[in-house]
Amino acid sequence: MKRIPFIFALVVLLPVSLMAEKIKVVTTFLPIYAHTKSIAGDLADVRSLVESGAEPHHFQFKPSDMKKLKEANLIIINGLGIEDWLNKALENFTKDHKAIIDTSEGVDLLENPEVIELTAERQGDSHKHSETEKGKNPHIWLDPVSAQIQVRNILKGLQKVDPINAKAYQTNAEIYLNELGKLNQDFKNQIEVLKNKNLITFHDAFPYLAKRYGFKYIACVEDFPEKSPSPQVIKSVVDLIRKNQVTTVFVEEGYSQRALQAIAKESGAKIATLDTIEVGVSEADAYLKRMRSNLETLKLAWK
Ligand SMILES: [Zn+2]
Repeated sequence: MKRIPFIFALVVLLPVSLMAEKIKVVTTFLPIYAHTKSIAGDLADVRSLVESGAEPHHFQFKPSDMKKLKEANLIIINGLGIEDWLNKALENFTKDHKAIIDTSEGVDLLENPEVIELTAERQGDSHKHSETEKGKNPHIWLDPVSAQIQVRNILKGLQKVDPINAKAYQTNAEIYLNELGKLNQDFKNQIEVLKNKNLITFHDAFPYLAKRYGFKYIACVEDFPEKSPSPQVIKSVVDLIRKNQVTTVFVEEGYSQRALQAIAKESGAKIATLDTIEVGVSEADAYLKRMRSNLETLKLAWK
């Protein structure tokens, strides 16, 4: 009889220790990682496929990534075709009934902004930045309100796959959603009041941000660094800048600035950098930190 408590302890402790095994979650790239990690904290093992240095549009899928996917209990994607490099692998996993969350579900989608190509003719479609399967722009995360929808989709996915921690995920998500709400409010208060919000970017990443806060997306300029920009097109961009009194043109981090310098010099517009949050170190607070830095950049440019 003295053994019974020992056996009892075994029976009780064994399932607990099994349940204590963390679920493995694979996210595709930085904003999706940041949202997921902010909800999961240390309750789940969250990893990103696209890591520092790489970017999600032309990601090279490696065998080690396949291993990450195989081990995952849950795969979380942005959706809208940006992770096309994942399609084949995901087909296999759907057959295995692996949980896959498309965070774009329920987000109001927008078309790509008007694109001006700096080079008269282009070399096929390989450079086209945001060609998506549905023909919609995939950069939904750059609008804090759409990001909230993505976060709720992630929360649902985590709770379904890991119901034991459902309550804790809920608590963490509420704190994070509250921060996103503050971010939205700060954009509203500080940007909506500005008068001249004529936006020209060198990346088609910002239609959602533009629509949310009433920017006028004049154009997105595409440059192919291996080709010489056509002087006529440069002139038409300069005319557009003058006509719309654009004070600043926005470029993304790491972008070739050759053609841009010529445009800025000719038109008198300044150059500033907007962050697409596509590249960088996988950190839970990366999204909030870098969107706040975008807010500062826009304020400075348009004040
Ligand atoms: Zn992009």
